Formats: sequence, structure tokens, C-alpha cells
Amino acid sequence: MTSRLYRDTGIVLRTYRLGEADRIVVFLTENNGKVRAVAKGIRKTRSKFGGRLEPLSLVNVQFHRGTSLDVVSQVETVDASTSMYGDLDVMTEASAVLEVVDQLIPDREPVPQIFRMLLGVRRTLLEKPSPLVVPAFIWKLLAVEGVRPELDRCVGCGDVESEAGGFVAFDSTMGGVQCRRCRTGVGVSDRAVSLMRDMLSGRLGAVLDAAYDPAGQRLDDPTASEVADLATRAFEAHVERRLRSLGIFERHDERSS
Ligand SMILES: [Zn+2]
Repeated sequence: MTSRLYRDTGIVLRTYRLGEADRIVVFLTENNGKVRAVAKGIRKTRSKFGGRLEPLSLVNVQFHRGTSLDVVSQVETVDASTSMYGDLDVMTEASAVLEVVDQLIPDREPVPQIFRMLLGVRRTLLEKPSPLVVPAFIWKLLAVEGVRPELDRCVGCGDVESEAGGFVAFDSTMGGVQCRRCRTGVGVSDRAVSLMRDMLSGRLGAVLDAAYDPAGQRLDDPTASEVADLATRAFEAHVERRLRSLGIFERHDERSS
């Protein structure tokens, strides 16, 4: 008989209420992909889970395989860093990261590379938060998904920068920068294009170090806002494309059954 218990390391993406006392907790795990499981009695004051299953918590979990949903049977905290829970900026950024992962990753599909990226961005948010952490994570995630943005050639005519005299726009549906003649997307500055190139190259660490201000200052940098806005647009275009392709498969399945 196969055991119905299994263990994994996971990061809590979100939780939602279930009935009077329970919650469904959504984890991204190292080996089992995205797992939804019921934490029974977690909303009681004397819950055995305490505060260990909050979004962004890094935990070792023992799951009990259920017929529809699995059940959380044991939780151990791996990293008890909770200093960020008091920092509104960090929590807002963490929510954005957790939400894009939750939207992108289907249940039960192992994605060890994305788990490691989430582990990394969690640490960066804790140690060196800055307005560039979320957009950098989204660009990297899109690259892993096979939709790395084109930043060196116009997605319309294929011209490189020198011939076209610089790129002026970014089209998130076409997935890259555009020259003046081909422009259909939103305007983009040279600084933003260069920052995105750095993020997607080996210079990401240096970019994040430079953006981090130990004094806790969060100055509004227009280039950072521009890159964040483009990352959100590109992510939405990717999710929409994928949902549309899934929709087509579902309709096809209905007809063939
Ligand atoms: Zn062009």
C-alpha cells in the first residue's frame, strides 16, 4: 500500500477561508508544484499551526493526500524571518510576487526552477527590498516561460538600434521593443530598455544592489516605474494568451467527447 503522507518544502502563496474554522492554503512546493491543502482548525485561537501559514512563510509541510484536497498534517517553520510583516512596502511587493506565481503556475506541475526563483526573491525582499525587485522577478519569470522580451531588435521590422535610431516603444502583445516606424505599443525610454537588458543579463544582482537603499528610502524613480509598468503589461499579455489557448483546448475537448 502506498503511503498517503508526503513531505515537501513550500512557500505559502495565499490562503482563503473554508467553513467556520479552516483555511485552504496554497503552497508553491519544491517537488510537487502548486499544492492546495486544507489547514483544519487554523482559525481557532489555539490552532496547532499558530501563525506559521501566512503568505510568504517558508515551511516544511507534511501533507495527507485526500480525495479532492490534501490536508496539512504538520508544519515546521524553515525561516522565521518575519520582520517584513511590519513593512507595508515589502508586504505589497511580496503580495504582487505571490500573486503572479499563483496565476501562472497550474496545480501539481513540478516547477523546481520557479520554486528556487521564488525562494531567491523572498530573500531579496527580506534583505534588500527596492521597487525593482518585483519587475525583475516578473521579467525573469517570463524568460523562464519562454517569452523573454526582445530588447535588441525591433519586433516589427527586425532593425537593430543603430539603424533605426533607438527604440521608442514596447509592444507587450508582440513581446518587445519597436522603432519609430513600427510603433504600436507604449512609449519606452532608453534608460528603461537598458535597465531591462541588465535585469535579464548576468547583471541582475548588481542592479538590485544599486536599487537598495539601506536607509529605507523609497524614492520614486521614473525608470523603475516604467519598467514595473511594462513588466505588468507583458505578464498580463502572457497570461491572457495562455488562457485563450487553454480555452480553445477545452472547447475542442467538449466537442470531441
Ligand atoms: Zn521597426
